[in-house]
Amino acid sequence: MKLPFTKPKGMKDNFGNDAEFYLKLYDLLYDFSVKYGFKYIETPLVENEKVFTTSLGQTSDVVEKEMFYLKTDEKKEKYVLRPENTAPIMRVYLEEGLYSEPQPLLFFYIGKMYRKENPQRGRLREFTQWGLEIVGSENSFADFYIIFTGYKFLKEILNFSEIKVKLNSLGCEKCRPKYKKKLTSYYRRYKNKICHDCQRRLKENPLRLLDCKNAICQPYKKNAPNILDSLCKFCSLHFQEIISYLDKSEINYELDYTLVRGFDYYERTVFEYFLQEDNLALGGGGRYDLGKIWVNTPTPAVGLALGLERLKLILEEKGIELKYSPKPDVFVAYVGEELKIRAFQIIENLRNEGLNVSFNFFKQSLSQQLEYANKIGVKYVVIVAFEELSKNSVILKDFESGAQETISISKLVNEIKNRLTSQNV
Ligand SMILES: [Zn+2]
Ligand SMILES: [Zn+2]
Repeated sequence: MKLPFTKPKGMKDNFGNDAEFYLKLYDLLYDFSVKYGFKYIETPLVENEKVFTTSLGQTSDVVEKEMFYLKTDEKKEKYVLRPENTAPIMRVYLEEGLYSEPQPLLFFYIGKMYRKENPQRGRLREFTQWGLEIVGSENSFADFYIIFTGYKFLKEILNFSEIKVKLNSLGCEKCRPKYKKKLTSYYRRYKNKICHDCQRRLKENPLRLLDCKNAICQPYKKNAPNILDSLCKFCSLHFQEIISYLDKSEINYELDYTLVRGFDYYERTVFEYFLQEDNLALGGGGRYDLGKIWVNTPTPAVGLALGLERLKLILEEKGIELKYSPKPDVFVAYVGEELKIRAFQIIENLRNEGLNVSFNFFKQSLSQQLEYANKIGVKYVVIVAFEELSKNSVILKDFESGAQETISISKLVNEIKNRLTSQNV
């Protein structure tokens, strides 16, 4: 129906099967994250723009052109919808003094992020990310554990069999400038041959040269100096340790010195998860230190983020279904208004016994209730009617065969459970 307004550009409503899918996915993610020792954290959707402009990098796409600014009365501060959640979590950590708790802290979040993406690229402007962060540790085991946990989720919970991790190190403030110099002087030789974006990157953010997907730049990229050859002693050792953990845990990974990620805050480890067959990135993360940038206090951390909309697309392509509540086990109907509440108590009993029960007490006639039960595809229907109820019984009807019998209420739960189990064999 045409309304005088529509949903905002680049945003999506989820209802029906889509909503069921996300509910199930959230459920899996909450359970999994908690099991792996991460604590849930929520931050506002709205943040001071500086949280991002001072961390993601002035020349990152997000800061340059993709932030949603809010109209506010405040004259001094500008507020934006969060484009990512690593910087907000570090804001909380530092602002609320979480560094005084036993370190490190392991956080997870599931939430909406906002970026003014170009809609023709098929990307949403509001999207959902699951993220993990380990804050307060420089130890290479933290990097490994983040990579491992994301891998485990994709492989064992979502059943992506051919997951691969691409891994790189971006070095630190000591070794990276030297590499940048090397890279810049290499690319200067080709500055008239590389694409326009790369010509700009060469001046503003040379590391992003390695990120170029433009075909004309590929030959130059291929022969560019490898950052792994320029790492200082500490970065190199840190990287070797991660690799040895990965080797021992049978994680499928490969080194990729062109992997740089889109935000400036990364240092040392960066990684992405890929599907082996189509080289499609599912998400990734890396190491960062926003305490050092914001308040000159080293606060080493490492994290990952995965976009759930993309995971959904891939699961659909692979025909993997993720449904929260498939069909109800049983439907309860009543005959006669005075039995409504008694029937409702029976529903509550069945639910307390762990059954998934449906009903439609918003319709009065039995035939309307049964028609609804038939449409939603329930196999078993319990009918609460006066005559049977006077003998503490109800009617149990099998919709498929049409057979029905009278069953004592005390035996109802077991009878339904038995039928459900024999049906599933
Ligand atoms: Zn270094
Ligand atoms: Zn290029």
